[in-house]
Amino acid sequence: MSIERILDYAHTLMGRSIQTGDVVIDGTCGNGHDTTFLANHVGKEGHVYAFDIQQEAILNTQRRLNTQGLDQQTTLIYDSHAHIQKYLQNDHHGNIAAAIYNLGYLPGSDKSIITKPEGTIQSVESVLATLKKGGLVVLVVYHGHPGGSEEKDALMSYVTELDAKNYQVLYYGFINKKKTPPFILAIERLK
Ligand code: SAM
Repeated sequence: MSIERILDYAHTLMGRSIQTGDVVIDGTCGNGHDTTFLANHVGKEGHVYAFDIQQEAILNTQRRLNTQGLDQQTTLIYDSHAHIQKYLQNDHHGNIAAAIYNLGYLPGSDKSIITKPEGTIQSVESVLATLKKGGLVVLVVYHGHPGGSEEKDALMSYVTELDAKNYQVLYYGFINKKKTPPFILAIERLK
């Protein structure tokens, strides 16, 4: 297949922006697929800060990291990504290479625990303020669940208003699929 699927393309974009030794963020670690991907990319000299509000997600991610020997370069934070600023050290300012947010609920768990528009936007704003030039924020927007369309609408309004002199924003999604397929919003810092 020539056109990459959503999750594959999210990783392709992240992979292009990350180098060994970078500091990166997983805003929603869930079952740890993105966190392990990031930890592999930054290597032992780099670091991943990964957030989730569910202990189950933190434990699942911890287990996955342990199995692959990736825990040394990862900090798991059992708190909302809205509070991200509290956890980043001063020397991370202007130094974050990339962040990913896989939105919605934890697959195989309580579908009522979802990412919310205010918290997600607050977190993205904090990350953009500390992103390095050329850095990237990737949002995988699921919006088929209750509450999902509100988050999608809020994010679309937010990213559409970002100053084009400072950021370029990509929309990547399949437009002829039935139901409500997820799509990607990717924000690149230009200067
Ligand atoms: N990236 C994950 C993976 O690779 O398996 C999947 C993430 S899942 C789609 C969404 C996750 O967001 C859930 O685990 C949920 O608990 C978490 N979440 C919801 N609100 C959050 C918040 N305010 N801060 C951090 N995580 C949150």
